[in-house]
Amino acid sequence: MSLALRCTDLTRSFGNIVAVNQASLTIQKGTVLALLGPSGCGKTTLLRLIAGLDRPHKGSVEIDGAPVETESVHIPPERREVGLVFQDFALFPHLSVEANISFGLPRHSKPSIRVNEVLLQVGLDGLNHRMPHELSGGQQQRVALARALAPNPRLIMLDEPFSNLDPELRGGVRQEVKKVLSDAAATAIIVTHDQEEALSLADEVAVMMHGQIVQQASPATIYRRPATREVAQFVGDINVIEGRGIGRAVVCDLGTISVVDEVTGPVHVLIRPEALQLTPDQGGQATQVGRIFFGRDQMIELEFDSGLRISSRVGPTFTFVPGERVRVQLTGDVLAFPST
Ligand code: ATP
Repeated sequence: MSLALRCTDLTRSFGNIVAVNQASLTIQKGTVLALLGPSGCGKTTLLRLIAGLDRPHKGSVEIDGAPVETESVHIPPERREVGLVFQDFALFPHLSVEANISFGLPRHSKPSIRVNEVLLQVGLDGLNHRMPHELSGGQQQRVALARALAPNPRLIMLDEPFSNLDPELRGGVRQEVKKVLSDAAATAIIVTHDQEEALSLADEVAVMMHGQIVQQASPATIYRRPATREVAQFVGDINVIEGRGIGRAVVCDLGTISVVDEVTGPVHVLIRPEALQLTPDQGGQATQVGRIFFGRDQMIELEFDSGLRISSRVGPTFTFVPGERVRVQLTGDVLAFPST
């Protein structure tokens, strides 16, 4: 495998706001990477630096092994061979589907053949002469994707591509986009602040916080082995419990439990709600005090004798009885991070 993109120590400030702060990122060819982070963490600014729409104060960008941005090099956006799909799809409203897609293609290249190819790829063959307003939101999204794919870019970047779609459409369109990108063997960055979207869509996830890439790994690793407490909290529900590290174990309200990495001193123990199994038991350590029922599962709130409150995610058939004691058992890995 070879590298499609390498960003090294990219930094870009606006006045005294450091929007992107020494961000480094690599993507192998053919990989779909989700760039995940909270609003304002610098995702769009990073995309703009990669696309060449803005210049960094420091750092470099290489595409397919060639420098496109360094202190002395700035290859303009139109020569970087990067495709962009924006949140609002940005189709030209007065141009047909075909004209929108062929817009960026060289005139001598028989654009209509390529237009038909990409329309087939995105599942819209035959719709060449429709106008954007005659298409559904999901179809407009696919035209935007077809337009970005048409010139065979080295890298395709999608900035919050699903946020303008109705929630009931979103899940289906996501999976369609994933299939189109994978059939085209495209290298892609999908920007999102939605952790479920990132985990379900991408081969790899890069988590961005405060302008930096804090962790880049597979979706499963990001979820199970988050690099920091902040990442753990951002990619799903988590219980944070005070404890004391004594090597490969910690002492906390749940007892003495094994942890993945060695720790000593005061720690925060991180436990996903689904890792806590409950059995009704008069002699159990905790009391059931609350419930949120979701249908496919439910969150049971528990209180320990110390006053500690944590949540457990259990199946829909668990019977919630307020005030009744439960035995709490841990399954899976437990992470602990120093709290000082
Ligand atoms: P969102 O998910 O809300 O779109 P983001 O992660 O894409 O956010 P950016 O849009 O990159 O974040 O913004 C990062 C920070 O830089 C923010 O504090 C933003 O206000 C600031 N910023 C971005 N562009 C500019 C600009 N042109 N001038 C001044 N500040 C800017």
